[in-house]
Amino acid sequence: MQTPAISIIIPIYNESLNIPTLYGRLKAVMEKLSISYELVFVNDCSKDNSILLIKQFATQDKQVKYIDFSRNFGHQIAVTAGLAMCKGEAVAIIDADLQDPPELIFDLYTKMQEGYEVVYAKRRSRKDKSILKKIAYKTFYRILARISQIDIPLDTGDFRILKRCVVDELNRMPEQHKFLRGQIAWLGFNQTYIEYDRDARAAGEPGYSYRKLFRLALDGITSFSNMPLRVATIMGFIVFFISLLLIIYTLVSFLFFHDTTPRGWSSIMISVLFLGGIQLLSIGIIGEYISRIQTDVRKRPLYVLRDTNMD
Ligand code: UDP
Ligand code: MG
Repeated sequence: MQTPAISIIIPIYNESLNIPTLYGRLKAVMEKLSISYELVFVNDCSKDNSILLIKQFATQDKQVKYIDFSRNFGHQIAVTAGLAMCKGEAVAIIDADLQDPPELIFDLYTKMQEGYEVVYAKRRSRKDKSILKKIAYKTFYRILARISQIDIPLDTGDFRILKRCVVDELNRMPEQHKFLRGQIAWLGFNQTYIEYDRDARAAGEPGYSYRKLFRLALDGITSFSNMPLRVATIMGFIVFFISLLLIIYTLVSFLFFHDTTPRGWSSIMISVLFLGGIQLLSIGIIGEYISRIQTDVRKRPLYVLRDTNMD
């Protein structure tokens, strides 16, 4: 088969309500671009009949490719599998829930022709149902931007287009805890963005639970910043310094002023709890980093396939 000009990677988790519309709109965009293409659906072990729908499309349409996971590996890994297996000279990544308008792929592709290797879609506004999620996203992106050593663009998800050279480099990055938008920023090249208004999810339930989002946020922070570790060290120094002053004070008042009045319960409680808290927090921070080292060292495959029609 000859190389398609563009591959579209679509991670799928319980999206049967959105797949028909998505497919229709993607087809229309591809028609408009009039270039050779493949649509790579990565089924992250959906619990609904998403994979049946995709396979149906695949029998009628040879541009439709599917990768079917043996279990739920998560969105980042689904995209990673798509990146590893797709063939396109350009590769676009898009969510299946129509929050990212497929029509924008046209603009992303045209912008790329101006000489960029990466064009990402930046959210001018977002219409998520939950305000809490909105605030959480906003704060997370800003914290990450502050503490990471590289410039990760604010308010951007994985909706973007990449040139083949970028995809090849991404495929060489073996880390288990993927934070693709960070990795792409780390790679460099000529990157730019276009802005869009992010819609609300068209139908179905979000596949990203708060737990999954929290894990992604931790992966992002631990992969791109040592700041939390440094904070633990700094806290250690501050506490050490304060304790030193208090030790001197206690010794001086005991040795020179023979002050043996019992200081009481509150001061002891405060210092014990404060120290205990700081210690546990620091151990937790170190633990987060160590557990990630451990999964990387194990070198398990990132995903397991049940079925695919790609080679
Ligand atoms: N998704 C996935 N695996 C998961 C969760 C989500 O492949 O475990 C897919 C989902 O089908 C969608 C995309 O990832 O295409 C983004 O998910 P979602 O819309 O739930 O995320 P949000 O918009 O809340 O960031
Ligand atoms: Mg969504």
